[in-house]
Amino acid sequence: MRSHDDDQRHFPAGAPVSVLTTQPLGRPLDYLAPEGGCTLGAFVSVPLGPRQVMGLIWGPGTGEVDRARLRPVSGCLEAEPVRTELREFIARAADYTLTPLPSMLRLATRAPGLGEGEALKRVYVRGEGEPDRMTEARGRVLDVLDEYGGLPFALGELAQLAGCGTSVVKGLVKQGVVAEVETPRDGPFPTLDPSRPGVELSAEQAAASGILREGVASGQYGTTLLKGVTGSGKTEVYLEAVAECLARGRQALVLLPEIALTGAFLSRVEARFGAKPAEWHSGVTQTERRRVWRMVAANGASLVVGARSALFLPFHDLGLIVVDEEHDGSYKQEDGVLYNARDMAVLRASLNGARVILASATPSLETWANAEAGKYDRLDLAARHGEARMPRLDAIDMRAEAMEASSWISPSLKGAVAARLEKGEQALLFLNRRGYAPVTVCRACGHQIGCDQCDAKMVEHRFQKRLVCHQCGETKPIPPACPACEVEGKLAPVGPGVERLAEEAAAHWPEARIAVLSSDLFGSARALKARVADIAEGGADIIIGTQLVAKGHNFPLLTLVGVIDTDLGLQGSDLRAAEHTFQQVRQVAGRAGRVAGREGAALLQTWQPEHPVIRAILSGDEEGFWQAEAEERRAAGMPPYGRMAGIVLSSPDVASVFDLGAAMARQDGPLRKIGAQVFGPAPAPIARIRGRHRVRLLVKAAKGAPLQPAVAEWVAQFRLPTNLRLAVDIDPQSFY
Ligand code: ADP
Ligand code: ZN
Repeated sequence: MRSHDDDQRHFPAGAPVSVLTTQPLGRPLDYLAPEGGCTLGAFVSVPLGPRQVMGLIWGPGTGEVDRARLRPVSGCLEAEPVRTELREFIARAADYTLTPLPSMLRLATRAPGLGEGEALKRVYVRGEGEPDRMTEARGRVLDVLDEYGGLPFALGELAQLAGCGTSVVKGLVKQGVVAEVETPRDGPFPTLDPSRPGVELSAEQAAASGILREGVASGQYGTTLLKGVTGSGKTEVYLEAVAECLARGRQALVLLPEIALTGAFLSRVEARFGAKPAEWHSGVTQTERRRVWRMVAANGASLVVGARSALFLPFHDLGLIVVDEEHDGSYKQEDGVLYNARDMAVLRASLNGARVILASATPSLETWANAEAGKYDRLDLAARHGEARMPRLDAIDMRAEAMEASSWISPSLKGAVAARLEKGEQALLFLNRRGYAPVTVCRACGHQIGCDQCDAKMVEHRFQKRLVCHQCGETKPIPPACPACEVEGKLAPVGPGVERLAEEAAAHWPEARIAVLSSDLFGSARALKARVADIAEGGADIIIGTQLVAKGHNFPLLTLVGVIDTDLGLQGSDLRAAEHTFQQVRQVAGRAGRVAGREGAALLQTWQPEHPVIRAILSGDEEGFWQAEAEERRAAGMPPYGRMAGIVLSSPDVASVFDLGAAMARQDGPLRKIGAQVFGPAPAPIARIRGRHRVRLLVKAAKGAPLQPAVAEWVAQFRLPTNLRLAVDIDPQSFY
């Protein structure tokens, strides 16, 4: 375990200290240490104007303000002090992403009730003696308490397990037969046992696992790309690294891109280590978040499975971070603090002598290039586990298909689906478009219905019976008449979304059970998880899904994947269009045939089968694809061979965004000093969102150039008019 001398640093009462709060002040402020002093990293409450706010002892006083004018810290809070490693991480992540420190601290303190003392909860255990009168219900309560070997229960939980009302339990409490006790509310998580045996690894898996274990055992920072086709056992292999980490008494974090994936993963952890890990994501209750936050700091949670924000938890001693499906776009936070969890994982690990495993079947070009350059290690799992084979990939040339009007499933694909259904297997139709139809057009005047607030078309969602703007979420009913020409009954949907595809499938296969998996169709993470589990057990014949299904779900009965519009992602001018299409289609194809003895196939509907990206997907020559893609980016000085920063200016006032954009382009001295170029201002691809006009500038620099300080200096030259927002996106992923 690492210990940091600084972690013990104590400031005596009256010593000037700097305190970082989550208030938008830009930097830490000086105070005087309270009575009894305070340690570095302690959570405190400080006066700020007339208010009391929470803050963190960030370091010695800066001396900016005369000592005589400093106010004392009001008091120390009960939460565990933040360790040096996390403070460094917050500071470095803020520098890297050009985010003000307070906003960064806010990410690290996203748990309710942090400042409150240890809360207690009431639980129920077996007391003394027997009840005066034994009833059936009373008997069941006592049985439950005996059966679970003295485990304490919450009132509702106990009553539910016993199938009685809470009054029965209360009655037993009166007689002392059941005891009511107070325990700390935030208890530690069950201990995971790393010494339990895992599955028997193949030679290839064992070799990879051995190397990963050694890395963890070294206690030194290092990042490894674990590349292997879907089903090759990456998860089994990285769980071995987790076992090594736990055995050494350090904590591990596994990041997953999608909440719906966590259910299956938790069960695998339980099977491997005998207990479930702590969970951290938006689907977790406030109480549970608080518990996770506290227990992670108090070393009462050894493994956390979570979404990207778990990276900011106050770990006691983090030894391993796994980023599963590392290429996934959801690791990049696209609003608020703009950061890439994959890159920040590497940063945090490097500050704490921890390892990083980046697992993927289709790594990002960034990670691939880092492995090529020797910055990351690379381990490959070439084969699917056991007898299972990678699916066959074939193109369906849409030019040769006899397509009926308002039909998107070609006769060839229909034939293939029918053959699978006959065998009792599942087929997946993949289309990355939510809703019923992406565009609603007036057949009289050609008008397309757009959002009033955004520069975007409204998408028809028939399930909700409304038009929805995918930019701002605004909805409205489908109007009876065209808003432009007022002709009635001429509005018609154009193009398919998953709901419309489901309609076509239902008409063609009336007997089939059809499941539509699209993020907007599920009210809660729990409902989505349940549906995914149900489908995995055979609860559907045809699955129709958006990118939600391209991610690591394991559907054993699924043997055919049909990609409805393989060309969709290639149409934009996005720098990563080829990379993303390649990853997405290979990923979704990899969903098929994960079980031995069931041969999988993937059929890609395309209008341009000769397109180089489509050809690369079909041939499976991944290294060739990446080499070619890398060459193109290198030649153009584009990431990962060059650096970029995106600037988005937005305001309700269109003139002010263009004026400031033009001024920024002119006064580019700080950028020119480092040899960087600025492009724009240009209207952003989505030129208006929520009534705000958006203008983009793009800064391009050489790989080694000190981009962040230059951008910071450049931006600092300008005063922002009221209502104008400026967002800096370092290493932008998408350009919307
Ligand atoms: P990936 O993460 O690469 O998609 P998984 O680790 O999920 O692969 O493995 C795919 C399936 O094969 C899982 O059901 C897993 O339990 C099983 N599996 C992989 N390796 C082994 C092994 N050595 N022994 C038994 N089952 C294995
Ligand atoms: Zn909108």
